[in-house]
Amino acid sequence: MARIIVNEETCKGCGLCANACPKKIIGFVKEKTNNKGYHPARLMKPEECVGCCACAMMCPDMAITVER
Ligand code: SF4
Ligand code: SF4
Repeated sequence: MARIIVNEETCKGCGLCANACPKKIIGFVKEKTNNKGYHPARLMKPEECVGCCACAMMCPDMAITVER
């Protein structure tokens, strides 16, 4: 099963990864704020991730690592 790991301190909450994901399974951690003041992205439904890397390729800050 594939999954993504988000570097929560690098993430700036821009949402590009969430928009790029064909499964629409990336959300934001509302209860958490990183050192830059952003709500970091998180994989909400890990069981649905297909490991396509669209999110990682779209991230301008290279905050996403995909494991397959
Ligand atoms: S690897 Fe693909 S399916 Fe998985 S979270 Fe990223 S864009 Fe979505
Ligand atoms: S594209 Fe990168 S910086 Fe933007 S929300 Fe996603 S992980 Fe965070």
